[in-house]
Amino acid sequence: MKIHEYQAKEIFAKHGIQVPPGEVVTNAEDARVVAERIGKPVMVKSQVHVGGRGKAGGIKYCENADVAYQNAKSILGMDIKGLTVKKVLITEAVNITSESYVGIIIDRAAKKPVFMVSPAGGIDIEQVAAETPEKIFKRHIDPLLGMSMYEARGLAYKLYDDPKLVNQAAKIIMQLYDVFMSNDCSLAEINPLITTPEGKVWAIDAKINIDDNGLFRHKEIEALRDMDAEEKSEMDARDAGLSFVKLDGNIGCIVNGAGLAMATMDLVKYYGGQPANFLDIGGSSNPEKVVSAMQIILRDPNVKAILFNIFGGITRCDDVANGIVEAINRMKPSVPIVVRLTGTNEDEAREILKSTNLPAATTMDGVVKKAIEIAGIN
Ligand code: GDP
Ligand code: MN
Repeated sequence: MKIHEYQAKEIFAKHGIQVPPGEVVTNAEDARVVAERIGKPVMVKSQVHVGGRGKAGGIKYCENADVAYQNAKSILGMDIKGLTVKKVLITEAVNITSESYVGIIIDRAAKKPVFMVSPAGGIDIEQVAAETPEKIFKRHIDPLLGMSMYEARGLAYKLYDDPKLVNQAAKIIMQLYDVFMSNDCSLAEINPLITTPEGKVWAIDAKINIDDNGLFRHKEIEALRDMDAEEKSEMDARDAGLSFVKLDGNIGCIVNGAGLAMATMDLVKYYGGQPANFLDIGGSSNPEKVVSAMQIILRDPNVKAILFNIFGGITRCDDVANGIVEAINRMKPSVPIVVRLTGTNEDEAREILKSTNLPAATTMDGVVKKAIEIAGIN
């Protein structure tokens, strides 16, 4: 789960990481009021769940409260990478002498959190990794031992030479580790961590992603979920009990089991296609779930073919087939559907699907190739 910068900054503050004072508002009048209260130049910062807001024009420096009003007016309602800006953070503008990057994620292969720091901050870390990987420094942290000050200082020395800056940065790195661990984060990032002409180090941006599987332990974070900012189809899928992730391709995939869903997507890619989504209808195959899955997938205008890949175990193929028939009757989709059903009750399923005249396949390769072919024609 993603949260907004202003929410991440509140969590930072709870763990002792200082951030410039500010307040979030939803209209330009309030932006003026907050800017007047701050009484110094401010930044107007769009609150949307994407990076690179600065480059997209969603972050503006404002000399005074009038300019803050104007900028808030133009940024609110703006479209940034497909998301509409509904909130802006009004925060004190600070003078910057350097921008660096500090982030922590889980390294699955190492089964440990890993810190990444870079003196080349402010820009996308993906870009730094691609162009100047020698400017990124990593350090794994043993979660059982926790983080030690010497480790944090080692990282901080990759950013600064001046011990006064190193001391401040090391403290922030320790606190960021604390944020990461105590909130079950999958990512905690400060980009940029800045220095000021007065020699102060602080976080002016904050990004936190929470591991969905840890959310039940953090009701206060679950409450921060911003319905406006999430992919609508993903929310509907969650309500329907489906595991669903929207992707950018044109082949809608409906599969049972996460492993088979991943394998199906791999195969789509292998044969040169692009999946439009990951979707796992789960173990029990209530026909209603199939209908919900079709509804969610058909809402995506990119989808040119729907691919069913069902391996019947606990899931019964006849249930899925009934769901397909039901969905077709209700929605009369114009998008073609290809089906592979094998396993429990597959003969019954084939009998049920006879009336639909859907192209059926028995092998996984066969159905994937068929779907790609059809998507290419449509
Ligand atoms: P992002 O583009 O979504 O990552 O948003 P950031 O909060 O990181 O802001 C992008 C850039 O705007 C930063 O790298 C800074 O260069 C600039 N910026 C943000 N806040 C301030 C500020 O208070 N003062 C100044 N001078 N620049 C800022
Ligand atoms: Mn940033």
